[in-house]
Amino acid sequence: MNELLRGLFDFIEKSPTCFHAVQEVKNILLAGGFEELQETKPWTVQAGKRYFVTRNQSSLIAFSMPEEEMRAFQIVASHSDSPTFKIKKNPEKEVQGHYVQLNTERYGGMICASWFDRPLSVAGRVAVRTENGGVQSRLVCCDRDLVVIPNLAIHMNRSANDGYAYNPQTDMLPLYGGEGAGGSFRKEIAAAAGAAPEHILCADLFLYNRMKGTVWGSRGEFIAAPRLDDLECAYTSLKAFLDGRGRRNASVYALFDNEEVGSGTKQGADSSFLDTVLRRVARAAGISGEKLDTVMASSFMVSADNAHALHPNHPDKNDPTNPVYLNNGVVVKFNANQKYTTDAISGAVFQEICRRAGAKFQVFVNRSDLLGGSTLGNISNSHVSVNTVDIGLPQLAMHSCYETAGSEDVESMVSALTAFYRTDIETLSDGQYRLS
Ligand code: ZN
Repeated sequence: MNELLRGLFDFIEKSPTCFHAVQEVKNILLAGGFEELQETKPWTVQAGKRYFVTRNQSSLIAFSMPEEEMRAFQIVASHSDSPTFKIKKNPEKEVQGHYVQLNTERYGGMICASWFDRPLSVAGRVAVRTENGGVQSRLVCCDRDLVVIPNLAIHMNRSANDGYAYNPQTDMLPLYGGEGAGGSFRKEIAAAAGAAPEHILCADLFLYNRMKGTVWGSRGEFIAAPRLDDLECAYTSLKAFLDGRGRRNASVYALFDNEEVGSGTKQGADSSFLDTVLRRVARAAGISGEKLDTVMASSFMVSADNAHALHPNHPDKNDPTNPVYLNNGVVVKFNANQKYTTDAISGAVFQEICRRAGAKFQVFVNRSDLLGGSTLGNISNSHVSVNTVDIGLPQLAMHSCYETAGSEDVESMVSALTAFYRTDIETLSDGQYRLS
């Protein structure tokens, strides 16, 4: 396994939830000399320096100030969350005194079948009462095989292979303990948080798959891991962000929570977060008034969220003239109804950057009779309206508990995005651009 794939799997393992993903990015940025800012305090920024800020501990924006006077922002955005099951309040549910289940609800649109019969654990954050009468958030991760969602035997559900519709309330509750386990979940979480059970005030807890990432296939062509959508983009764009930066543009790394549930939260792509941060950065750099409008108008965004590779059992599900294959490089996504933001300009600029960097890329368009999913780009554009390209890494089994992708594409994405950050995209006039 090469170092890049090992780094990706390590990142995914340390990121069981959106909160942990942001914490892990924070750790990497702090180790790289970045300074943490708080939204609730005034900012000062200096040319050539690097900073980051978080919101709700589940979204993060980092930026590198250029040495020269800033002309634009160049942003790559991905998301920190993945489909899973959220644990409800008062989660313990006893079954005839012999089992304790955890009551959960769906977070996002997962492939239900993939969550059965595998060891799962619990992670998230808890709000703890502090000694001085305050509330403090702590990340928790049980980090052991803790629950399983067992299938019903085929003998008791003869339609299991005939397109069975899983009911999230009755079919999908994880088994947590046997006789006598009642009342222990709260203690389990409190112990993981290092707090007394009575001091846990509230929690955001999720199930996660503990299986490690793996390289597989006849020549190691493929990788599989939990949460590749979208931690694969979150990690590769972070690598690129750390290595590449512009001379005249401020390089921006954005990681948003809640993409899987529509982005409409205070920390999602459909919030003030990115717009507010960009404007504050510009103001702190002494750019205001009409100059700020020119900086915003000159900016460029890459929305990086995984894409659908052609499935070997279902090749007809992809567009007839634009097939996407694993290991054929970064996917540039197009959609006439602009669910993907890419147009001739943003597509040309990004593909030209890939070409110059020698990074492989390919094109995705939905079959005309299939609706695709939505992603970050067009949602973010309603707040920060800039030229944007929607891209991603090709994968199979999107929203499965264990997803598959191409082992060579990881490198293509890092090369493409490093080149993107290093290229100054200069807007000469509306419709005319120089890449230097
Ligand atoms: Zn995604």
